[in-house]
Amino acid sequence: MGMLLRGARVIRSDRVTDEADVRTDAETGRIEAVGDLDPRGDERVVDLSGKTVTPGLVDAHVHFSLSGERSVEDVVDMSDAELTLVEARNARKTLEAGVTGARVMGARDIDVALKRAIDAGDVPGPRTVANCRSITITGGHGHHMGREIDGPTEARTAVREQVKLGADFIKFMATGGVTTPGSDPGAVAFTEEELHALVDEAHRRGVHTATHAHGGEGVKAAIRAGVDTVEHGTFLDDEAIDLFLERDATLVPTLSAPYHIVRNTEAATKEDVTKTEFVYDRHIESFKLAAEAGVRIAGGTDAGTPFNVHGGNASEVQFMAQHAMEPLDAVRAMTETAADAVGLDDCGVVEPGAYADLLVFDDDPLSDLTLLNDPTAVLKGGHVVAGAVPGAVPDGE
Ligand SMILES: [Zn+2]
Repeated sequence: MGMLLRGARVIRSDRVTDEADVRTDAETGRIEAVGDLDPRGDERVVDLSGKTVTPGLVDAHVHFSLSGERSVEDVVDMSDAELTLVEARNARKTLEAGVTGARVMGARDIDVALKRAIDAGDVPGPRTVANCRSITITGGHGHHMGREIDGPTEARTAVREQVKLGADFIKFMATGGVTTPGSDPGAVAFTEEELHALVDEAHRRGVHTATHAHGGEGVKAAIRAGVDTVEHGTFLDDEAIDLFLERDATLVPTLSAPYHIVRNTEAATKEDVTKTEFVYDRHIESFKLAAEAGVRIAGGTDAGTPFNVHGGNASEVQFMAQHAMEPLDAVRAMTETAADAVGLDDCGVVEPGAYADLLVFDDDPLSDLTLLNDPTAVLKGGHVVAGAVPGAVPDGE
């Protein structure tokens, strides 16, 4: 049975419609109509007057393999069985917090299996875009759970391996990182030939590419090689901004990641604190520069990194609004724009034909973005998967 959600203020993506009705179709899990609609005999009518409906959030960058541990190295010794259970728990927490779509940065080969289990309805979780292992140079950032390569031929082999296993995208580490001991966030990791091979091979296989990149030279080299999304983009200069615009690349700033390390300096590792304090101010400056220049920005949290726990994803919207964006634009960055950037079709908007992935709030989150952290109800495919709406039965009954 479908539902008619009546009379809510609806944040559709780029605009807000007051007192709109939203009809969901239980068969397809999609939105059938939005507007001024009359109830039909066969549907459940839910009065949402005074409440606000938004699209479910789409997080363009999460790590289900990590759970906010002090050090990423804490999970390296876990068995595949243990890590799979951890990932399933984190997927559920993410969905219940209102994130109905996520691009998951893979560890080992678990995430593609998790995605299949979510799609089959066996495990609760957001609609997932998954890769397997992130590709890095030998000894580079993330090598503990990544695929180390050297040379353009091995780069192509590694891409083909990931696609064979079911990867929806290819992630590679164009620079060093904060959380890998001994790796330098400023240094360019791959050669130009390797970067070209990675992106070219991924596009030949029909999947998009994401690069982890802090240093400006690494960002620029990856964009010149044709990368689709740049993660972090900590040190951006005017040349980098121009390249984003020219090549139509998307920035996923992940402002949550340094925020949580800087606020936990007592507990964090000494190396993480030293590296993060150095980069934090520049990171925010780079984000502002990009937002003001009109670079396409997709919301992503890097959830799972130290103290950046799953379920707090919506804070990223606040951070983006706090530093550069209008509230509605920040919401759009972590709904429609993120869905487009990661290839989640028909997600991130409240429009006919889109999936009925919806959040319900008692008050309007545009007036206070912290409300986004605590939706009254979360719907995925038209089913209530967390919280409750008046008169609607939870999923599975
Ligand atoms: Zn990450």
